[in-house]
Amino acid sequence: MRSYYIAGNWKMHKTISESIALATVLKGKLAACGEKVLVAPAFTALAVVAEVLKGSKIHLGAQNMGCEEQGAHTGEVSVLMLKDIGVTAVILGHSERRHSYLESDDLINRKVLLALKHGIEPILCVGETLEERDAGKLEVVIGTQLREGLKGVDGAALRNVTIAYEPVWAIGTGKTATPEDADAVHAYIRTVLSGLYGEAASKAICIQYGGSVKADNVAALMAKPNIDGALVGGASLKVDAFAPIALFR
Ligand code: PEP
Repeated sequence: MRSYYIAGNWKMHKTISESIALATVLKGKLAACGEKVLVAPAFTALAVVAEVLKGSKIHLGAQNMGCEEQGAHTGEVSVLMLKDIGVTAVILGHSERRHSYLESDDLINRKVLLALKHGIEPILCVGETLEERDAGKLEVVIGTQLREGLKGVDGAALRNVTIAYEPVWAIGTGKTATPEDADAVHAYIRTVLSGLYGEAASKAICIQYGGSVKADNVAALMAKPNIDGALVGGASLKVDAFAPIALFR
């Protein structure tokens, strides 16, 4: 039976006490969950959530990371700091960072390589805007984000990378890509990766879908052959919304 990777991105939500409360209840509710589950709190709450999650199977992720190990980078958080806290994965190239903070493929690639160097697993987000989709540029956009984002990542390192396909038009909008639409793009992602790394690697990699995933659509999405998990935003902020997603079967 396939297993799935369900990640919750808390974005710029939750104070420290709210994060502790959410993580504590999730730890109990998901104790018997058979899927790989990750939560990505704000930087300020990472250390306390790490404490709460001790002894649980829930992984701790960060939502972003600086592109240098350390140095004069005001406001950035380094890979060494994340590792020190016990973070095991980092979301990179989220569309909010690409579009609102103008992160380029080159910058994202530097972060991917740095995370891998330090044993932190990147979740590399790719996805097209509605304008790009309507203009027939979906494959060019996704192909470029993959090729550029993974530059310098060899086949062995790729085993520690997760891809998240997140159509920008479906994030936080309530619009989900149909399972068929999402699966078709996931299949395309595998085609690109097959060209870069070979067929076996393209079949083995975990590709999450993200974009308004909820309890009532998760099973249909996960039933598709190329969808291996979910990156969840809004619905990860409440136990009653996130737990049923992680426990969808
Ligand atoms: C996301 O933040 O990556 C996301 C998919 O958000 P939402 O689930 O709210 O659409």
